[in-house]
Amino acid sequence: YRAKQLGRNTLQHHDGDGAPLGMPLGEHEELHQAITGDQLFLEYQPQVDVATGRITGIEALVRWNHPAKGRVPPVNFIPLAEETGLIVPLGLWVLNEACRQARAWQDMGLAPVTIAVNVSAKQFADPDFASHVAEALERHRLQSHWLELEVTESVVMQDAERALAMMESLRAIGVRLSIDDFGSGYSSLAALKTFPFDRLKMDRSLVEALPGDKTAVAIASAVISLAQTLKLSVLAEGVETDAQMDFLRQARCEEAQGYRFSRPVSPEAATLLLQAQSI
Ligand code: C2E
Ligand code: MG
Ligand code: MG
Ligand code: MG
Repeated sequence: YRAKQLGRNTLQHHDGDGAPLGMPLGEHEELHQAITGDQLFLEYQPQVDVATGRITGIEALVRWNHPAKGRVPPVNFIPLAEETGLIVPLGLWVLNEACRQARAWQDMGLAPVTIAVNVSAKQFADPDFASHVAEALERHRLQSHWLELEVTESVVMQDAERALAMMESLRAIGVRLSIDDFGSGYSSLAALKTFPFDRLKMDRSLVEALPGDKTAVAIASAVISLAQTLKLSVLAEGVETDAQMDFLRQARCEEAQGYRFSRPVSPEAATLLLQAQSI
C-alpha cells in the first residue's frame, strides 16, 4: 500500500483549493511531495507496564526526511498538514504503515503489542475515517483490539456531537481510544465525561516535576485516581527518570512512556526491543 497511490487518489481536491492565506505555496507543495514521494517514515516508542517493565504497546510517530533540510520534526509540519488538509492522506499513510508494521511483528512470532496511532482533528471529522480504519485492519489482517487511536481533547471538543458519533463507530469496530496529552488543555474534565475513552495519557507537563514538587505530586495523583474511578487505564507520558518511575509505581499508574525506557526508534531497533522480551 503505497503513499503514492494514496496521494493520487486523495490529493486532487486539495490541489484545487491552493494554499491557505499566508501559507507559502512552496511549503504546501513540498509537503505534498513528501506524502507522494516516500519522504515520510515512522519511528516507534515503547509503552511499558510500570509494574513489570514489559512493553505492552508501541506508539507510531511520523517523521519527514526533507530532501534539502533533512529531518523535520512533526511540530513543524503537522500543523501545516492540518491547515492544508494534507493531514488526511498523510494520516491514512501513517495508519496503514503502522498496521503493516504491527502485522509484520506478529508474523515474526513476537508477543503482540498494541500499536498506537495519533489522529488529528481533520481526520476525525472525515466521515470516511471509520471505514479507512476498518480497511487498514482488514488489509493487514490485524485484530482491531491491537490498534489504539490517540486523540487530544481539542479533536473531540471541536464538534462534540460528530466526534461522539465517530467514536461510537470506532468502538463498534473494536479499536481502542485514548485521550492524548491529558492535562495540557482547558477542558479535559468535560471531554472525559462526554466521550467513551479507554485510556488516559497524562501529559508530560504533569510528569516533569515529579516527584520533588508537591503540587505536581498532588495533580498527578488526582489524575491517576480520576482515571481509576472512570475505569480508564492510565499512562504517564515523558517519563525520563527512575524517581518518576518509583512515584508512578507507588501511585498505581499502569503504564509509562518516555526516554527512561526508549526514545522513538527505527522499526529495526523497535524489533530488537520486542525480541529482547520475547526470549
Ligand atoms: P504525542 O502524540 O504526545 O507524542 C509524544 C511526543 O513526546 C513525541 O514527540 C515523543 O518523541 C516525545 N517524547 C516521548 N518521550 C519523551 C520524553 O521522555 N521526554 C521528552 N521531552 N519528550 C518525549 P514527537 O515525535 O516530536 O511528536 C510530537 C507530536 O506530533 C505528537 O505528540 C503528536 O501530537 C504529533 N504527531 C506525531 N506523529 C503524528 C502522526 O502520525 N499523526 C498526527 N496527527 N500527529 C502526530
Ligand atoms: Mg500521541
Ligand atoms: Mg502525548
Ligand atoms: Mg504531545
